[in-house]
Amino acid sequence: MENVADYKEIIDAIKEEGGDAFKRCYQCGLCDTVCPWNNVIKFSMRKIVREATFGMSDIGTEDIWRCTSCGKCVQRCPRDVQQITSVMSLRKIATEYKVFPTSVRPIRTIRSSLASEGNPLNEKRESRADWAEGLDVKTFEEGMEILYFPGCYPSYDPRLKKVARATVNILNRAGVEFGILGPEVNCCGESIRKTGDEELFKRLATGNIKAFIDHGVKKILVSSPHCYHTFKNEYPEFMVNFEIVHITQYLFELINEGRLKIKKEFAKKITYHDPCYLGRHNGIYDEPREVLKKVPGLELVEMAESREDSLCCGGGGGRIWMETPKNERFSDLRLKQAVDTGAEELVTACPYCITNFEDSRLTMEYEDVLKIKDITEVIQEVISGNEET
Ligand code: SF4
Ligand code: SF4
Repeated sequence: MENVADYKEIIDAIKEEGGDAFKRCYQCGLCDTVCPWNNVIKFSMRKIVREATFGMSDIGTEDIWRCTSCGKCVQRCPRDVQQITSVMSLRKIATEYKVFPTSVRPIRTIRSSLASEGNPLNEKRESRADWAEGLDVKTFEEGMEILYFPGCYPSYDPRLKKVARATVNILNRAGVEFGILGPEVNCCGESIRKTGDEELFKRLATGNIKAFIDHGVKKILVSSPHCYHTFKNEYPEFMVNFEIVHITQYLFELINEGRLKIKKEFAKKITYHDPCYLGRHNGIYDEPREVLKKVPGLELVEMAESREDSLCCGGGGGRIWMETPKNERFSDLRLKQAVDTGAEELVTACPYCITNFEDSRLTMEYEDVLKIKDITEVIQEVISGNEET
């Protein structure tokens, strides 16, 4: 930092933001024993917390941007330090003072795409509903059973559009009266908030809330655990409360109510990956497994780290937008764990996990060894053989 006055200001800001949460830390180091970074490099959340306590953090380094907000350290910490919130506050200061290491620079492009088009993928707002072309999908109207909110990646990314389309095929097959809001909605804002951009998060969130209220939305179905988390746990900060359902919960409900009938066998060995924002952050472990267990012929096996101990894919906390060198990717380790179970398919329920796993599948040359699927893609196959995808 060139200017001494600025430096003093930053130290004060760190102390102020860190507050009591940082001070509760007694440096036991348990966070470092569970953090997935320590499988690939040397990284210490304990050190970040200690330095922040004294206002001595170097906010210009890569370290404060590494955290994927997987939640493992928060789950393990005996002193309720809330490491994710703490690291977010450091990112907030770095954002405010525009101090970014090179690896974080792509986020500037992401920010401008989110601000102008409402999505992080540099796609046009008007094409937000193009994924639904040729399918029986209506615009949401008041009185409909549920609003389907696919999120940004299933709306625009060619691989993830298949998930949105599979979801629609399932909803239509179950006779659910649903609609979408296409270009009227934005990114949920979860990941950009984790990069410390509170202002942009508020803009995206209030835009969505206005669209939901204007259309009389009460219940929202989401594909992404990140949308689930932020709609359910963070939008109430704006004094609103919508009923939020993740697709794994909804499939469980539709099957149990007899609205969705499984008609075909799926004779494969599969393993299920718990996305951090569905499992650790929201406690949804059983519904996806119960849904998969209802499929005749399907053999469900568990990986070395599953449920509360699930290994993060590496995509949370805004890391999905940052370049991670090949030998530092958690998704490579996860694929290895999946292959070690003897499973033919790795099934999950999060667009970020699928993106990272598909990348690793290519770079690790696992194309003939393992398939990556969203849970909706499995269920679509067993409810009918001829739906359009
Ligand atoms: S686990 Fe909690 S108390 Fe222990 S070092 Fe980490 S942040 Fe501090
Ligand atoms: S939230 Fe996860 S990635 Fe971040 S420091 Fe904790 S254990 Fe490591």
